[in-house]
Amino acid sequence: MTQHFISAAHFDGKIPRDALLVALSSTALLLKADLRTLPEYGELMWQIEAKQELLFLGYWDGRPVFTVEMPQATDPLEPYDWIELRQLLPQIDHAFFSIAARALQIHDWSRNHRFCGRCGGVMGAHPQNERARVCTQCGFSAYPRINPCVIGVVKRGHEILLARAHRFKNGMFSALAGFVEVGESAEETFIREVREEVGVEINNLRYFSSQAWPFPSNLMLGFVADYAGGELVLQDDEIAEAGFFHADNLPLIPPHGSIARALIEFCLTENR
Ligand SMILES: [Zn+2]
Repeated sequence: MTQHFISAAHFDGKIPRDALLVALSSTALLLKADLRTLPEYGELMWQIEAKQELLFLGYWDGRPVFTVEMPQATDPLEPYDWIELRQLLPQIDHAFFSIAARALQIHDWSRNHRFCGRCGGVMGAHPQNERARVCTQCGFSAYPRINPCVIGVVKRGHEILLARAHRFKNGMFSALAGFVEVGESAEETFIREVREEVGVEINNLRYFSSQAWPFPSNLMLGFVADYAGGELVLQDDEIAEAGFFHADNLPLIPPHGSIARALIEFCLTENR
């Protein structure tokens, strides 16, 4: 059965006991062992303290969905268990990951906007129930902020360019990626990132697809480009290793479910 999610920012009245709950503890999600059953509000309502904020996300197959952040040390609540979202990514369907990703980002926004960044006043609800906080003193409004990043694979004939960042301790190689700077287009970002990180020039950029990445609130914009010249010169503080790889000699690459993996597989299929 395909599950259908409709986003909404405002829920009127008492929370029904059978409402679904996206319960998070840091970046772990409370889930049954089948990896697709969320707890209901009625099952967890006694564990939720008054100070814990229940935020409304929308409707999943017509059922209201709320999200709550539980303290880090909360024991698993039978028959549910805490599962790290990053580990879940290759195992669950996209709609499910995207609801959990949304919940994570909305908590992040809520935590960071209790007070106004302009005047320091207390932030309150939006008068038209939009997903925004509005300052009770100066009227400044704060919507959840998304940070765009570009991620891409560079092709050279039948080979693809992959790099291992110092932070990938498990030896994994991935597509090159970086944050969009103020004033840049996504294409300009990718050209700059590739030049900075591995020293080569690219051309013929094509948009691939995008993915919301909630660690903490990025939107990954995927591109494919062609190698246009230059030798590999690595940015020491960022990149540990980089190289052009053929489908037959791939290093360890990112897991299924990530846009990096989809990009790599797309480029290798295109090469065949
Ligand atoms: Zn203010």
